[in-house]
Amino acid sequence: MSAPPKSNAKAQVAAANAMTKLAPIAAWTMLVVASLVLLGWCLQIPALTRLMTIAPSMKAPTAIAFIASGLALLGCARVGRGGLACVLPNLLVLLIGSLSILEHTSGATLFIDQLFADPEALARGNPPGRMPQMTAIGLVLLAAQGLLVSQQRAPRLCHLLAGVLLSLGAFALTLAGYSYQMGVIQMLPVSPPTAILFLLATLGWLVLQQPMGIMRVAFADSPGTVLLKRAGIPALLMPPVLAIAIRAAEHLLDWTHTEVVAAVGYLSGVGACAMVVGMAWLLHHLDEQQQKARRFHDAAYTDALTGVTNRRGFDEAIEHLLQGHRGTDHGFTMLMLDLDHFKNFNDDFGHLAGDEALQITGQILLESLRPQDIAARFGGEEFAVILPGTEMAGGRRAAQRLLQAFRTHDWPYRKVTVSIGIANSHPDDTAATLIARADEALYAAKSGGRDRACEAAVGPPASGL
Ligand code: GH3
Ligand code: MG
Ligand code: MG
Repeated sequence: MSAPPKSNAKAQVAAANAMTKLAPIAAWTMLVVASLVLLGWCLQIPALTRLMTIAPSMKAPTAIAFIASGLALLGCARVGRGGLACVLPNLLVLLIGSLSILEHTSGATLFIDQLFADPEALARGNPPGRMPQMTAIGLVLLAAQGLLVSQQRAPRLCHLLAGVLLSLGAFALTLAGYSYQMGVIQMLPVSPPTAILFLLATLGWLVLQQPMGIMRVAFADSPGTVLLKRAGIPALLMPPVLAIAIRAAEHLLDWTHTEVVAAVGYLSGVGACAMVVGMAWLLHHLDEQQQKARRFHDAAYTDALTGVTNRRGFDEAIEHLLQGHRGTDHGFTMLMLDLDHFKNFNDDFGHLAGDEALQITGQILLESLRPQDIAARFGGEEFAVILPGTEMAGGRRAAQRLLQAFRTHDWPYRKVTVSIGIANSHPDDTAATLIARADEALYAAKSGGRDRACEAAVGPPASGL
């Protein structure tokens, strides 16, 4: 017995728009960071190729690939899917990644290493400017993800690629955490800035994909969405953060290997517990918010004196049901009730006693109807009842049940009876025409002697009503 639920479509669209903004943000970050690195290689500024960090440099072919991938992502986010602006840069990324894998597997030195020589790599006897094998594999996967997303093909495979790339980025960052030694990070398969760009690029392509699987949760407006948005990135970054914390403790506190292993186990457990506690708190908080919203909603649609639906709720409910009836067979029946000689009741016992009788009327209605029925205070001492999916015969039975409940109730001052008009909805009805027919039937019940129910004429409403 409540008003029809409001649609949350607007909130869902706003949440989806916020999510898709991640794509241009990721694209611009890739473009700016990779351009700085490339500038560093062009001007031979080693600090810039390391992005002012202590990490190993990002290689020039990697930077070029990220610029191309960023352009493709930007093109896909801005212009739409499938255009050459998405395909060509992704093909370049695929080429750079594939050639680098070929170099690693065959031992050959192809031209892409020679563009910008890396003095550090040369000093260590490594091929100059060659990107690590893991970066090359990551670029091939990223290009495949970009090409498939831009063509809206194989969404499941796209998800799989995204999962592998996110794992690759998180793994590379975790390794960086453990490799941190005396202010230097050495011997890394993927440098931390490269790993971060992989994470960003993958997420950027992911939000442009058709929402399916877990991405449907990300684009929705549910407690799961809030949980994913708040806990997803912390969960992804937990292993690298733990690695850095343990490495720092190892240096500062001079821990033994056993202590480090124990700390890894302990901190992983603590991290998992923190996640569970955080999730529990979040779900509890969301539940409280929903309950509060429900209470506000109920208060806005409930008559304070009688506890039944108020006029606003009745108006919305009847519009909703009439809309549903148009073009379908799903009719409903409406009862219009008016207490008999209520003015006299007030005159004899006072308005407070009258209010008490109105409260009892509300109780009788709520107790006598089915959960799907709507009982509303139409105004003053008039009430309306909507019986969804009910024909005239069902309306007649409900009216008799109500009349009987009024007659048999143990009233505190004196018995109160009610007159009822019954009207069955018609597909051409408006709220006004249906209420007018129910009113006519109610007046017939009044003039027929009160404490009774009368039926309205069946059929389309008279014109001009
Ligand atoms: P009838 O059988 O023809 O309906 O006679 P009636 O006396 O009930 O006539 P009518 O429906 O016109 O009277 C409505 C009365 O209901 C008048 C008003 O004092 C009373 N009433 C309306 N709203 C309230 C309310 O909120 N509290 C109280 N106590 N009385 C109310
Ligand atoms: Mg009245
Ligand atoms: Mg009355």
